[in-house]
Amino acid sequence: MTLTETPTPASTTAPPPGRLFIGGHWRDASDGGRMDVIAPATGKKLTEVAKATTADVDAAVAAARAAFDSGVWSGLSSRERARILQRAYTLMRERSEELAQAESSNVGKPITFARVVDVNNAAELYEYYASLGHHLDGSVREITGHAHVYVKKEPIGVVAAITPFNFPLILSSTKIAPALIAGNTIVHKPASGTPLSALLMAQILQEAGVPDGVFNVVTGSGGAIGDHLVAHPGVDKVAFTGSTEIGAHAAQLAGSTLKPFTAELGGNAANILFADADLNTAMHTVIAAFVFNTGQFCMAGPRLLVERPIYDVVLGILAEAVPHVPFGDITNPETVIGPLASATQLEKVSAMVDRAKAAGARVITGGERAELDGFYYRPTVLADLGADAEAVSEEVFGPVLTVQPFDTEEEAIHLVNSTRYGLASGIQTSDLAKAHRVAARLEAGITWVNGWALLDPATPFGGVKASGWGREGGPEAMASYQRSHSMVFNLEQGTAQ
Ligand code: NAP
Repeated sequence: MTLTETPTPASTTAPPPGRLFIGGHWRDASDGGRMDVIAPATGKKLTEVAKATTADVDAAVAAARAAFDSGVWSGLSSRERARILQRAYTLMRERSEELAQAESSNVGKPITFARVVDVNNAAELYEYYASLGHHLDGSVREITGHAHVYVKKEPIGVVAAITPFNFPLILSSTKIAPALIAGNTIVHKPASGTPLSALLMAQILQEAGVPDGVFNVVTGSGGAIGDHLVAHPGVDKVAFTGSTEIGAHAAQLAGSTLKPFTAELGGNAANILFADADLNTAMHTVIAAFVFNTGQFCMAGPRLLVERPIYDVVLGILAEAVPHVPFGDITNPETVIGPLASATQLEKVSAMVDRAKAAGARVITGGERAELDGFYYRPTVLADLGADAEAVSEEVFGPVLTVQPFDTEEEAIHLVNSTRYGLASGIQTSDLAKAHRVAARLEAGITWVNGWALLDPATPFGGVKASGWGREGGPEAMASYQRSHSMVFNLEQGTAQ
């Protein structure tokens, strides 16, 4: 142990120490650097954490490499790993309020949302992948010739898990749980603005029995350490979630070092509302789809396509209902919409809406910042924009809905597929034959019919086009942390001596 290392605090309910977690120890950045963590609901400093350097990345990768090579994790049976993940699930349940408070204060999530959505979903990911650990197996192949062939599933090695600001706990869990059950070791870099739950998870995983070095956390700026981590020769696979632009950059780096790379990138999903839908239920879905997580949801539904006969009625309902969605104080259990997660997000959303207004958008409701401390923007509905308008074709990533009419199924399908993204999509209709017909033609990794954001750990999700490569969730995610090793035994010789 060096002078900058301390053992894990005896009390597991201690607040996150705000230090790097490397090789099972909490340490300061090699140059002592720190960075502020801002509370979005107040705009004021919440706490601070270590700001890792590239030397710290080297140390974290070395710890993960040593843990992988020693077999301390990959050498356990998958059922032993499953028991440890199941213990992590139990500890997350025991510390659920602490996790929810961290996620709420750090990301600006209304507390009920953090409890019900973030903590529940994250914990269930550990439970789900623990269950898959009881069924990990390879396969035997029938081949031509006299040989015995079996295919073994092996972990890939050291995984760099890089996550964005909007769902820190869930999106780290979508990587960590499947990577761990498959036997990999991990260096996790959370978004620099929202690192707190990752530090709590380091405590939880250690207490659950994950051996030292198997899970490491480096908090720090992606601009300073991201390239170094992605290109690091000690990293065997990169699992990235974030923007399309940074994802494309990281993909090039990973490609140049020939690493497997999975990417969950930007989205700009469309929701088709047919005139035959149950309008009362559908409008709840429409509103929830765009205000969920204050619109900072890669699979949000920020584009509403409405069959023309009900277009004016729908605009009227939105004008009436949206201003009444509980907005503001994130500590109030009734609040549905909180602040944006950072001053940068607030500036970006505000500027995009201003440009949309200048381009002729009709503001049905919202369209302005709220006069509250913190990074609040009023839920906004915009009409009269064409498919090429920036607010329609690009990802706004805020509580903003654009509404466009359509006349035919063909036109609706064309509009859904008209952006460069392809993450999620939705159809609201009472005609299931039409839903099947249309869903089959939508370019997206997931399509919800008569609902939105129904997600379960067993359901794979991910993008097509500029929304990414690969899938998270389900056995598909675990497979992306495994490689096949074919064992071919020639039975024609070798047994007679
Ligand atoms: P981002 O700016 O792309 O950042 C994502 C992560 O990459 C952060 O940890 C960031 O660190 C890091 N990073 C920055 N530069 C890097 C580099 N050169 N090399 C490696 N990593 C680097 O995305 P964001 O603004 O946090 O998140 C919003 C975006 O994520 C949206 O586009 C959203 O649609 C997308 N998203 C997609 C999914 C999905 O499942 N498809 C889920 C959630 C979010 P810093 O924070 O320190 O910059």
